[in-house]
Amino acid sequence: LSQLFRPLDLLGMVYRTIRQGLIDMEAMYKLIDTEAEIADAPGAPALKVKAGEVRFDHVRFGYDPDREILHDVSFTVPAGKTLAIVGPSGAGKSTIARTLFRFYDIQSGRILIDGQDIAEVTQSSLRAAIGIVPQDMVLFNDTVGYNIGYGRAGASQQEIEAAAKAASIHDFIMRMPQGYDTRVGERGLKLSGGEKQRVAIARTLLKDPPVLVLDEATSALDSRTETEIQDVLRSISRKRTTLVVAHRLSTVVDADEIIVLDQGRIVERGRHADLVRSNGLYATMWARQATEREDMPVEPVIEDDF
Ligand code: ATP
Repeated sequence: LSQLFRPLDLLGMVYRTIRQGLIDMEAMYKLIDTEAEIADAPGAPALKVKAGEVRFDHVRFGYDPDREILHDVSFTVPAGKTLAIVGPSGAGKSTIARTLFRFYDIQSGRILIDGQDIAEVTQSSLRAAIGIVPQDMVLFNDTVGYNIGYGRAGASQQEIEAAAKAASIHDFIMRMPQGYDTRVGERGLKLSGGEKQRVAIARTLLKDPPVLVLDEATSALDSRTETEIQDVLRSISRKRTTLVVAHRLSTVVDADEIIVLDQGRIVERGRHADLVRSNGLYATMWARQATEREDMPVEPVIEDDF
């Protein structure tokens, strides 16, 4: 009977996946044998990641060739550093992440990891190098242990538990009736947004990728959960090249560089304090969000600083 339900699971998942902004792409790619428009170049070598530098070099892209979404986007994330991508809704933040994963091919320009064009290496090696923590993970209708272990084929129970501990979800799992064998997902235990995100983090820790894409949750988590998750995210991004797709600004304060995207163009870039000071779009967004969230410190805007 379970065989019968599999295609339905898959359809449900694909549907939900497509509806979500930055989707659970890794899961989707492994599940569906994509008759992809995206093909490996003949004889393409595997991506070799040494340090993990990510570079967008004059990237132009549109889902529909007549409607360009990313206009000449260039940035470099040095190995191990964190880039935050901010901007109004629809600016193209998630699109940058999707093109890095080569979910779509770009129209012109290049996307490079350690100097290798991602269009010229095998897709499997590219996707093995990138870990994604999506904002709303789609869980498999299986055990919580399976959902975490999916990060790396052949992971031992010990490794799964170590990843769960690092993601601060182990104690929660141990309180469930069947521990790691508890079924989750649509026909199992429903996990909260924060719990699902921790499962996603544990899965990513197990995968141990050199490049990380964090799609920060838009949905409000309670502030304690949010602080805990941010601490975990900060620690997993410490030694990895990280791109944070930020919908709220409170988490980008420590980023090594912030790019502000507006209608597919980078309109400002720099560190938090510089951007606040320059009184542009970022400063406006920061001021607006600060009033929305009273617990967020508002930095003084110094107008005559330069
Ligand atoms: P948000 O903060 O609301 O998630 P975003 O900055 O991540 O927004 P994107 O999801 O990258 O924005 O979308 C950028 C533009 O691309 C939008 O105009 C959107 O309508 C369009 N777009 C996104 N996905 C697709 C798609 N699959 N097909 C066609 N257009 C799309």
